[in-house]
Order: sequence, then C-alpha cells, then structure tokens
Amino acid sequence: MTRLDSAQWQRLMDYLRENHGPICRQWFEELEPVGMDSGWLEIQTATNVQQNYLQNKCLDPFNEAAQHATGALVGVKFVSESTRSAKQPVGVGAATSTSGTSVPRPLPDYMVGDYDADQMVLSPDYSFDNFISGPNNRLAYAAAVAVADQPGTAYNPLFIHGGVGLGKTHLLQAICQKILNANPDYQILYVSCDAFMNQFFECVRSGKMSEFHQRYRHVDMLVIDDIHFLADKERSQEEFFHTFNELYQHNKQIVLSSDAAPNEIPKLEERLISRFNWGLVAQVGKPCFETRIAILKAKAQLRSVEVPDEVIELIASRVDTNARELEGAITNLIAHAKLQNLPIGMDLAREMLGAEPVAPRNNQVTLQAIIDAVTNFYNVKLQDLQSRRRHKSITEPRQICMWLARKNTRFSLEEIGGYFGGRDHTTVMHSIKTVDARSETDATYAAQVQQLNEQIQQQV
Ligand code: ADP
Ligand code: MG
Repeated sequence: MTRLDSAQWQRLMDYLRENHGPICRQWFEELEPVGMDSGWLEIQTATNVQQNYLQNKCLDPFNEAAQHATGALVGVKFVSESTRSAKQPVGVGAATSTSGTSVPRPLPDYMVGDYDADQMVLSPDYSFDNFISGPNNRLAYAAAVAVADQPGTAYNPLFIHGGVGLGKTHLLQAICQKILNANPDYQILYVSCDAFMNQFFECVRSGKMSEFHQRYRHVDMLVIDDIHFLADKERSQEEFFHTFNELYQHNKQIVLSSDAAPNEIPKLEERLISRFNWGLVAQVGKPCFETRIAILKAKAQLRSVEVPDEVIELIASRVDTNARELEGAITNLIAHAKLQNLPIGMDLAREMLGAEPVAPRNNQVTLQAIIDAVTNFYNVKLQDLQSRRRHKSITEPRQICMWLARKNTRFSLEEIGGYFGGRDHTTVMHSIKTVDARSETDATYAAQVQQLNEQIQQQV
C-alpha cells in the first residue's frame, strides 16, 4: 500500500469544501488517509457510525475529490478501526447497509424489496454532543442519555413525542450512536414505523413470519421512529404488541418516537397505550429564544462556518418554529453566501429572511384585539404602552400585552418588542417571565391575566 502525501490529502479536502460544501462537517477533520492500493484509496474514520454514513451517503463526492486530488482513477473505501482489524461491525450500520465494504452478514431475502435501507443510516451529526438541551426538551434529553448509559434498565420503553423538527429522530439516533460507540457488538434494530409495517406485510405475504420474528425479537434494542403511523393499523398493532412483549420480557430496551402522546394517537389499542406508558413518556417542545440561538451556533459550528452573533440573533428572532427550520435557515444562508460570493452578514440574512415580519394567520388573535382588551381593562392609552414611560401603571399592562402577544400571535420577540416602544427581545422575554412569576404567587393577578387571555381568544 502506498501512502498518500499530505499535499494530496489537503487537495482532496479542499476540493470537497469547495465543490461539495453542504456535505462537509467539522468531524471530517478526524478522517485520515490510510493509503492507496490497487485503485483504492482507503480512508479511516473515527467510528463505525462515521464509516457507514460516509460509505452510504458521501461516496460519490469523495470519489470525485480523490480522483481530482491524485489525478488517478481511484475509488474511495472507508474503513474504521474495527473493520480494519477484520472485526465485523454489527448493529444499525451493519445490519442495514446494502453497499460498501463491510456487510457483516448477508441481508436475508425479506430485507430486500420495498425495504428502504437509507432510512436507517445513522448520521454522525445526530449525536448527544450536537444536541442542544433546553427547557423544551430537558426531560427527553436526560432520559435519552440515561437509556444510552443503561439500556434495558433505566426507562423501558422510552417514548419521545412532539411536533415535527423538534429533535425526536436526533435523540433516537444519539442513543444508538452512544451505545454503538461504546459497544460495537450491540445489536440495535433502528427502523421507521413504515419499514416495520412493510416488512411485516411482506413476510406475511411470502410466508416468512419466522424470519420476521427472528429479526425483530432477538435484538438487544429496538428503536422505532414515528410509531404514530401505527394509528388505525390493526394488524400491525397486533404484531407490534407481541414484538414489544417479547423484548420487554427479556429486558431488551425499546425506544419509540411519535408526533403525539400515546393516548392521543388515533385508534391505538388500549393495551399498547398502556405499555407505552410503562416506562417514560417525554415530550419535546418548541425551543425558546436562547435555545434557538444555541442550536443555530451548533449548526454553524458543525459546518465549520463562522456566523456573526447578530446574524444568529436575527435568525433566532425570526424563525421560531422548530430546529429543522433553524438549520434550514443556516444552510440557506451559507449557500447564498457562496453562490453570490458575499460575506455571511446582516445584509444577506435580511435579504434571505425577507423584509416583512411574519404576518399572523387569519383567524388568529391580532395585536389590536390584545390592545383593545388591555387598554380597556387597565384604562391606559396605547400611546402610553408604546412610550418609554416606566411607571408601574404603564409597565404592568405593557408586560401583559407582551405576554398575550407571545402566547397568541406568531410575532417574534423582536417584533413584539418593536411594537411596544422599540424594546428589544430581552425586554420582552423579561416581561413574559415577570408575568409568569407573578401569576404563580398572586392568584388575583393570575385570574386577571387569564380572563384577558380568554377574552381575546373568544373574539377569534
Ligand atoms: P423530528 O424527528 O422531531 O421531526 P429531527 O430530529 O429530525 O426532528 O430534527 C430536525 C433537525 O433539527 C435535525 O437536523 C436535528 O439535528 C435538528 N435539531 C432538532 N432539535 C435539536 C436540538 N435540540 N439541538 C440541535 N439540533 C436539533
Ligand atoms: Mg423524525
């Protein structure tokens, strides 16, 4: 095997960054060229998860870069410590990979077909290190870490639910990775609910149920993403019920994600609802402003891209839906900067986010309704609410306006602050906290706020 000289390696990495920026990650710095041998360039990865991911998701760009850097018709092979020493990797990556250098056991017939292997490739991005925990996901995060540290004993099953883009898949994959990095022999089956159902019906059809049972009932851990798709599917629910029981009885860990809590999944059998509640049910919610900032910073860092703080803050104040959209905004920004050959700064961010603040949807509470209710109740003028005045008789209703606007409209903290006297997002956040804190100790006050809240909602 001949060594790759460092200039060639540098050229390869530069080529990737220049021509395939979106796939590049900070952890690529951990990659090392092993050498070239009869047309193959071997690249060593730090973990099996990285190896499997690169082999499945990034092979073409790496081949292109390798050919560019060496001027030879080489193909890239990713190897990890354990595959190099001829020890076969098992678990998620191994069990599902259909291509590449290291399929440890041949895929049984029933795994081929409709089965979508791509869904199961773990992304090294989705690790605990890259997950930002905040008030919106603290319990789910802590439980996921506990399960990864002590599978089968900490919480079984672990059931994580919440809206789209809030980190459910990320947490599921982080659990798998942490376990696999500590113990590459651990047998994890990580599938989407769709894959589970498709394989089930395929095995029923072809009379291969024993293989299905072998596959699903003899793993150390079963991880199913988006289990809410079982809604309404009677036969799949029945099969899953038996799978669950079998694993549970043998203290095998089960981890599930869903877009709704167990009792809110439509037409889910009572016995499954009850089982899902046996372990820990944890919700992930929308990230608050500070968490959004931290997520944006993490996503920029993952891509080794510097984004100024003011740009991060602007995005965080405008995109307040979920982490997926935050990540989308960062990748968009990076792509725009590259395409137009511009620095990543406020001008570009403003252009990308659009000048207009997000308007509230129809039949949603308007700021006017909030102002009408509050000015009436406290007998103050809008003009005062929008002024810099800081007398208690003004600050109190102003804080309540901000609280109501936050709870009932889609305006960002920055927009709300701007409307009520050009205040910044931290002031709005402070106001919301003040109202919440006082509501907890002062029942009369809490009732007033509640009454106003109901009053404006009734007008919709
Ligand atoms: P879900 O499965 O809940 O729809 P995902 O786990 O796919 O959401 O998350 C969508 C994107 O947002 C992913 O790229 C993920 O890494 C990112 N993400 C979500 N929550 C967080 C978080 N708390 N910290 C960092 N990234 C997050
Ligand atoms: Mg998901």
